[in-house]
Amino acid sequence: MLTVDKGIQYLQGAGAKITATRIAILKSLENRRDHPSAERIFMDLKLFCPSLSIATVYSTASLLARGSLIRVLSIDEKKVCYDPNTEPHGHFMCRKCKRVFDVPFRFELGAAADASGEIASVEDAEIFYYGLCARCERS
Ligand SMILES: [Zn+2]
Ligand SMILES: [Zn+2]
Repeated sequence: MLTVDKGIQYLQGAGAKITATRIAILKSLENRRDHPSAERIFMDLKLFCPSLSIATVYSTASLLARGSLIRVLSIDEKKVCYDPNTEPHGHFMCRKCKRVFDVPFRFELGAAADASGEIASVEDAEIFYYGLCARCERS
């Protein structure tokens, strides 16, 4: 799970300048469960960080993703979403409200390696489920 401290340490190591806006982006991602898009983070922070640009959100997120501190999800074809939880888990997107929820894996990563002789080890996996969330089904 991404923390502000881990993020700062990594960005410093990667040679990135630690600015107030970058710290605000890290704070916004820390403990976040709703898989925000770059636009969402930008909208949330713009008020408090007038100097923030969407390009800074993208560049900071891609640095963090390169260091495996966050996960970049392509579950929504219209926009990328960020996940500070880098433990293997699946995702569900409601086709109506577009909210993205965590879904636990129902199988072991190692099972994929067993299936063919070609794969030595599986380190990560991505599973996307699509459907209706309980709230949208009721409405
Ligand atoms: Zn929904
Ligand atoms: Zn997630």
